Amino acid sequence: MGQSASSKPSSTSTPTRSDKPDVTPPLASKSSKILIVGGGGTMGSSTALHLARRGFEDIRILDVYPIPSKNSAGYDLNKIAGADSIGLFGGVFGGVRDVAWDAWTSDPVFIPYAHNVGKMDLTSGDTARAKALRQKYETFVSLGRTEFEWLANEDDIKRKAPHLKDADIAGWRGLYCASGGWVAAADALNSVGTELEKLGVKSAFGPSGTFSSLLLKEDGSVRGVKTVDGTEWDADLVVLAAGAWSPVLVDLEGQCTSKCWVYAHIQLTPEEAEAMKGVPTMYNNEYGFFFEPRPDSHLLKLCNEFPGYTNYTTVQPFGAAKPIKLSVPRSHAQNPTDTMPTEVLDEIKRLVKKCLPHLEGRELINQAMCWCTDTDDANWLLCEHPRFKGLVLATGDSGHSFKMLPVVGNEVADLIEGKMPEKKRQLWRYRPGAGDPNGTGRGGPEPKDLADVDGWRHD
Ligand SMILES: Cc1cc2nc3c(=O)[nH]c(=O)nc-3n(C[C@H](O)[C@H](O)[C@H](O)COP(=O)(O)OP(=O)(O)OC[C@H]3O[C@@H](n4cnc5c(N)ncnc54)[C@H](O)[C@@H]3O)c2cc1C
Repeated sequence: MGQSASSKPSSTSTPTRSDKPDVTPPLASKSSKILIVGGGGTMGSSTALHLARRGFEDIRILDVYPIPSKNSAGYDLNKIAGADSIGLFGGVFGGVRDVAWDAWTSDPVFIPYAHNVGKMDLTSGDTARAKALRQKYETFVSLGRTEFEWLANEDDIKRKAPHLKDADIAGWRGLYCASGGWVAAADALNSVGTELEKLGVKSAFGPSGTFSSLLLKEDGSVRGVKTVDGTEWDADLVVLAAGAWSPVLVDLEGQCTSKCWVYAHIQLTPEEAEAMKGVPTMYNNEYGFFFEPRPDSHLLKLCNEFPGYTNYTTVQPFGAAKPIKLSVPRSHAQNPTDTMPTEVLDEIKRLVKKCLPHLEGRELINQAMCWCTDTDDANWLLCEHPRFKGLVLATGDSGHSFKMLPVVGNEVADLIEGKMPEKKRQLWRYRPGAGDPNGTGRGGPEPKDLADVDGWRHD
């Protein structure tokens, strides 16, 4: 990120971080031509929405698929969201998550897709995580927040979640939050797409929307994007918000590693779905999570919890001097016969047996792998690319960014308008090799590679 002239020390003093201004030169003006690569997905569509709402006049989203993009990690029935963020105290989202649930429940574009059924963040015993959750609960209480309850044991949990009445959860405990639950993910993306059309945002999908390379001026700054059909799109500013594809499209110097996670569904009968109507979203860090069944299709979505899988392949992103080994997404949309590795399917079966034993043995349908890109510290990468001026990176979702759909674009728009505070610029800066000094990234063992696990490939 460039430092502004006004951020230079005025005279003799050595600059410190606190000397840096909260206002930097804007990267674009309201009349600039802006291209958003990945604009059919989560962070890209949110960026388009916020820029259009601020009066930017010439925005075009580019994507492989029309919004809601079938390649997006958000092309899904439900995602966890809520107002129970440790981000209240800063956190990886720089405090922004605190306003995300407000936006889900107050912005007309999002209101119909927010299901405020409550959420439970549980753990299986007297673990370090249990202590951290308890501490979080006590902090919220000390702040006067009344929507939290401590679920000290199995009975407390079952009182909140009667659908777990037969669950084998002795020793479980955790935090209940009444503000939150789940959001209807692909439907919400679709709603953003409708709003973008109303606001005059242009689009190109398919081969003419699929990024192939950046177009550079002689000074190395960006003048546009070339797509796979050979179209050359001119731009004053390009935003790269291609999720798990971002590090494959442009060299990000190892800052993002793309990984997939999995989900499957059980088709419930209308009666079975009715019996689970309004239940809180249940998350357990060891077993996984599931949601209230969809009111329309009666599908119950289930996920296990694990470190994800990589898919290492040799590719040459734009800007890389030579081919490099990167984890390359293999999307369900483009590989519809892929299911999921047997070992994680077994974990989803374990989740069903543990929590919903009356559904044990039911067919697990619509199995899919879905791709995100992790940074080392789980913070976003929201900054101008230092080498390719005029390229803004809006990526590094780290597997937890759908809940931020209504607000993440506001941060990107602040960056573009030169209004992002220094603290956030520091948090989301370009940082190759910075590692994970605070241990804030995804913990646990290293992810396995898809090449080393069976059961998912059927082509
Ligand atoms: C199984 C699973 C469960 C999850 N659960 C939750 C949850 O409960 N709560 C939560 O907050 N988050 C959750 N997430 C994470 C969340 O979905 C992601 O963090 C978020 O959707 C990523 O947004 P993104 O914009 O970075 O990428 P995406 O939404 O994936 O968008 C990337 C876009 O780039 C496009 N693209 C790719 N290549 C090109 C190209 N060459 N040219 C043009 N466009 C291109 C794609 O088509 C896509 O539309 C989950 C993820 C998974 C996989």
